[in-house]
Amino acid sequence: MSVRLINRAGRACLWLDTGFIDLEHGSQGRFPSDPMEAIGRWFEIAEWGAGLAPGAAEGPVIEEQLGPPVPRPSKVFAIGLNYRDHAAEAGLPIPEVPLVFTKFPNCLVGPRHAVELSSDYVDWEVELVVVIGRRGRAIRAKEAADYIAGYTVGQDISDRKAQFAGNPPQFSMGKSYDTFGPIGPAVVSQDAFADPNDLRLTCEVSGEMMQDSRTREMIFPVPELIEFLSRRCTLEAGDLIFTGTPAGVGSTRKPRRYLRPGDVIRSWIEGIGVLLNECVTDAGAPSGEPVTRK
Ligand code: ZN
Repeated sequence: MSVRLINRAGRACLWLDTGFIDLEHGSQGRFPSDPMEAIGRWFEIAEWGAGLAPGAAEGPVIEEQLGPPVPRPSKVFAIGLNYRDHAAEAGLPIPEVPLVFTKFPNCLVGPRHAVELSSDYVDWEVELVVVIGRRGRAIRAKEAADYIAGYTVGQDISDRKAQFAGNPPQFSMGKSYDTFGPIGPAVVSQDAFADPNDLRLTCEVSGEMMQDSRTREMIFPVPELIEFLSRRCTLEAGDLIFTGTPAGVGSTRKPRRYLRPGDVIRSWIEGIGVLLNECVTDAGAPSGEPVTRK
């Protein structure tokens, strides 16, 4: 039986078919309430959670109350140009090695949080996000699944003006503004998927379908990414990998389309769930409009 871990108002909870159960209360104190500590004990918790009766739920899950399921990872890797069609639309060659940058953890927000637009050039990128479940280094691709807690949905929100300011470009700065990393709604264990390497993912902006692809189209699949990254950096429980976005981002559309205040970004991955993020004007944005937050 699969397990779904959520961050409900700062506390680690499991999402059952019938509602949520608080991890610390529901386990009579065996497990911690802190979401990061919970990720560190993922495999124990998954075993315990699989044995829970549906009637154990304490109440309904209200997605507006959910924070990022992994709020303070030690590392957030992100992969550029990992789908052939996206590399083609960007007019760039297929990479020969994974192109890695970081999204600093300050950018992470929950599945219903507002995205604060830093300029008039902010773009969407729906991505499968891998959540690491235990420490490891030099992990072989064929053993990678043993190190994965589960998957969640992510948005790699990108300010294209900031990203391409200067040469070489500054991916990390352009993609790490506060609120530029919505993730959630839950970390879903791998056994929830018939084939975790072939999931449909979509992104709609204000009702218009912009991206619609499958994770099997990745140039470097998840096990290869874990081998590549862990040969260089020790992976820790809770580390995140944004695995790249398929075709259909705004900056390569004709005409170009960027996010505007009031736009709602709906990001979905089969078997995981939905992110719904409304775009608002940031106080520091060049347009100088007043801040509007929900
Ligand atoms: Zn991306």
